[in-house]
Amino acid sequence: MSPCFIVPPELLERILRLGQAADREAALATLSIDHSIRTNRIQNAFLAAIPRRRHHLVHGGRGRPHRTIFDAHHRTDVHATTVLRAEGQPPCSDEDANHAYDGLGDTYRFFWEALSRDSIDDAGLPLLGEVHFGRNYDNAFWDGERMMFGDGDGRLFKIGGFVRALDVIGHELCHGVTQSTLNLLYTGQPGALNESISDVFGSLVKQYRRGQTAADSDWLIGEDLLGPAVRGVALRSLRAPGTAFEGDLQPAHMRDYRVTSSDNGGVHLNSGIPNHAFYLAATALGGYAWEKAGRIWYHTLVVGAVPPDAHFHTFAQATLRTAGVLFGVASEEWRAVAEAWVRVGVLSAAQLG
Ligand SMILES: [Zn+2]
Repeated sequence: MSPCFIVPPELLERILRLGQAADREAALATLSIDHSIRTNRIQNAFLAAIPRRRHHLVHGGRGRPHRTIFDAHHRTDVHATTVLRAEGQPPCSDEDANHAYDGLGDTYRFFWEALSRDSIDDAGLPLLGEVHFGRNYDNAFWDGERMMFGDGDGRLFKIGGFVRALDVIGHELCHGVTQSTLNLLYTGQPGALNESISDVFGSLVKQYRRGQTAADSDWLIGEDLLGPAVRGVALRSLRAPGTAFEGDLQPAHMRDYRVTSSDNGGVHLNSGIPNHAFYLAATALGGYAWEKAGRIWYHTLVVGAVPPDAHFHTFAQATLRTAGVLFGVASEEWRAVAEAWVRVGVLSAAQLG
């Protein structure tokens, strides 16, 4: 299992290079926690989660989430045991816990109502969240079992911002959905696809909650999250990759694909390409994005037979096959998806025949 952080490392690395001393310290602290999580904690947490899943299945969701929000007490080394709010309990005195509880519920509701998926594993897996992870920690991530939220340091990221960003929560939980469906590798093109799928469904969770059409959506991930030390509007933009914050290097076309050894081969960068393809397909089709483009993407996860090491091209062709099954080959939906992948340079018009 890979650690699936929401904040692209290049944002923190840019602060290290260009930020003020205090901000550099905050970025460095977050990056070093991320690094130790990457190397130690995740595999252990995920391995430990496997036998527990069987127990969780007993509770089964069938349209009802099963949430537990824990207080990490600013620790980063063990899973927290203090429960702040369990399923069905009224709001507690910790506002961050209440936001996390609501965000997990909204994400569950989206997958259940819009896509008939019963939680992360489609078998009612309970949703576990931890708030107050680390001290002034500027990130949030899915560790294979729990959704972990830092408080933010107030300079790079707003305090309490991560628990209030529904698209961030949707993004992170979708890593669990991808893990239990395609199980894409977290490196290079399959890693960028993994990131993109989380951005796509993170955005859809937010759009569904707000009742927004594709035309109404901001197509941003993590707007209102950045603090005063980061210039920008969000972490990522599906509409205009590379414009979310100052120093955002996401490409929107294959000709600008970034070859790099950092960030698992640029998984948070090159995700801009499939992100933009989804945006193009969804806005071409209009209406609610989860009804057509979202459905095509989702069914590609579930029945698309996409291998874990898939490159963009393989995934694109799988979305076309799915569009053909759901809506008909050469249907309006099929053509919108084909056109989107051609416009980002993943498929060529000639290949489509
Ligand atoms: Zn991610």
